[in-house]
Amino acid sequence: MNKREAKKQIDRLRKEINTHNYHYHVLNQPFIKDYEYDKLYKKLQDIENQYPDFITPDSPTQRIGGQPLAGFKTIEHSVRMLSLDNTYSEEEVRDFDKRVRKQLVKRVVYEVTLKVDGVAVTLHYRNGVFELGATRGDGVHGDDITLNLRTIKSLPLRMLTDDQELANIEVRGEVFLPKKAFVALNRQREEQSMPLFANLRNAAAGSLKLLDAREVAHRGLDIFVHTVPRQPGPSYHSHYDTLLRLGASGFKIIPHIKQCQHLDEVFDYINEWRNARETLEYEVDGLVIKVDDFKQRERLGYTIKSPRWAIAYKYPARQAITQLQNISVQVGRTGRVTPVANLNPVSLSGTTVSHATLHNDDEIRRKDIRLNDYVIIEKGGEIIPKVVGVVKERRTGKERKFIFPKTCPVCGEKLVRLPEKADWRCVNSSCSAQIRGAILHFASRQAMDIEGLGYVLVNNLVDLGIVKSLDDIYRLTAATLAERERMGNKSAENLIASIEKSKAKPFKKVLHGLGIPNIGINASHLLVEAFGSIDRVSKAKHEDFSEIPGIGEIIAQSIIDYFKNKKNRQLIKNLKQMGLCFVHKKSKAKQFLAGKTFVFTGELANMIRADAQAQVRKYGGHPISAVSKQTDFVVCGANSGSKYDKAKKLGLSIISEKEFLDMLEKGEKG
Ligand SMILES: [Zn+2]
Repeated sequence: MNKREAKKQIDRLRKEINTHNYHYHVLNQPFIKDYEYDKLYKKLQDIENQYPDFITPDSPTQRIGGQPLAGFKTIEHSVRMLSLDNTYSEEEVRDFDKRVRKQLVKRVVYEVTLKVDGVAVTLHYRNGVFELGATRGDGVHGDDITLNLRTIKSLPLRMLTDDQELANIEVRGEVFLPKKAFVALNRQREEQSMPLFANLRNAAAGSLKLLDAREVAHRGLDIFVHTVPRQPGPSYHSHYDTLLRLGASGFKIIPHIKQCQHLDEVFDYINEWRNARETLEYEVDGLVIKVDDFKQRERLGYTIKSPRWAIAYKYPARQAITQLQNISVQVGRTGRVTPVANLNPVSLSGTTVSHATLHNDDEIRRKDIRLNDYVIIEKGGEIIPKVVGVVKERRTGKERKFIFPKTCPVCGEKLVRLPEKADWRCVNSSCSAQIRGAILHFASRQAMDIEGLGYVLVNNLVDLGIVKSLDDIYRLTAATLAERERMGNKSAENLIASIEKSKAKPFKKVLHGLGIPNIGINASHLLVEAFGSIDRVSKAKHEDFSEIPGIGEIIAQSIIDYFKNKKNRQLIKNLKQMGLCFVHKKSKAKQFLAGKTFVFTGELANMIRADAQAQVRKYGGHPISAVSKQTDFVVCGANSGSKYDKAKKLGLSIISEKEFLDMLEKGEKG
């Protein structure tokens, strides 16, 4: 393939891939199989690797890239990014309509859209290519989050249209996290003992604030485009039509838009979605009502805070009233004791609710929540409902104040409340609730991945006092295990094997598995990279931590506190003796290709080119794309073209794919 052909191929592949992306991520109607898509993508990647000059930022291969940022640049919005007036009252929607009609005289058409609970962003396109994206910020200035936005697969890096009026457009939308992705993200954070996101909006906002776009790409964010702040050109009068046109140009526009001539239609639509919104896979908290015509919008203008041509109607939060039967307290892995309300089951937005969180002791007192009270529970964007208040009118005199237990409900040890902290804690490190939690965490997939060490068995082992701390896991024998209920010889042996296997887990997994508060898998990774061994981690001082990007004061303190405790130091000593890994082993392959340059050409039969290049790098060599006198090896696959000819002319050593693989094998052994 020559350069011209390569360029043509690249253009064709990009177009094809962009169209498939659109069908998959925007329309939700893929028409090719995943592996066929992957094949196209790989092919594009290969040609681009071969001709890196042709790589442009709008290529579908370039969505995720770059090093983590030190911070976000501030940009100034060309059209202020105002928030909308919002209201819970239908009366205020009527007033809005009256004001609009009074000012316009002419007939008004409203564009009504769902109000998705997410983070507002603005996107700038130049010549049809996504160039800049930013947060709302204070409405005048926002953060440049272009790299993070690029990772959202439903956001077109290049529009699928040649319409010149749209080519240099600014559009605005809502970045959101689908409900499923939210649940998965929080589950993952729970496993990694990281703080959970309270609701979908926080999760989306938190994800967009990450400085590493590669991490953002894993969050599962999505975007709906809902606003075009300026009339794109003379042929566009209606905002509604503009959005539809954008929808056909590759954007994921907000679904279920409706044009309404009369206010009655608007209210019908509000009612239509009141309950139906529960069935959507994203969170909708109201509807947005906007004057549709661009010219009319201009005439209505803005107040200092918001446009006069739009209003957001918000549905009241979903609440229910039910009786509080009692309050139980739960002891977490870190010893934190949380009160939970046990309720008479009640139906709330499609699910039956029988528990709600009460947060902490202070919260119960502040709201004066008593046993047998009728309480109002609310479910916002949150997954776990909360008790927002008491219906005092329904008190009969049979209500009793709740007295927070003074002792741990599990181990009986006196609970402690640190100054200025709202939580009560059980600080007994041999508390079985904590041991159980600690062991389940240690054995979890993210940590030591010990298959077969599940909840029931751990409970049993902890209750019987067979396992009192993490190192006891390594003292278990097949004989002890086989005595447990529902545990045959075979599964006992399997579990022992899987415990044995866990000793080979790398240091960062072990460190994560220790369950030190605030040390999730990411922090473990950073600490391991920075310190290299547990001895150095345990001796680190505040100033040593402050030099590691990504490690904050909370983590530093957590580590320091952990190693102050003699029991913890003993535990690590024991685990070391058991053979667990407390040193960071850099998997350094032998650098037998050091300094050698490789060019790959033609089609390889046994591996894709990117993998072959990765192998070269692994052993210290450099894959390059152009053949020159300095090239050490030219690896030729089937249908090698001009590079083969050139290599021959220059008298370079030309080897086959098989010879290349032999070289690797010999080097590895050698
Ligand atoms: Zn306890």
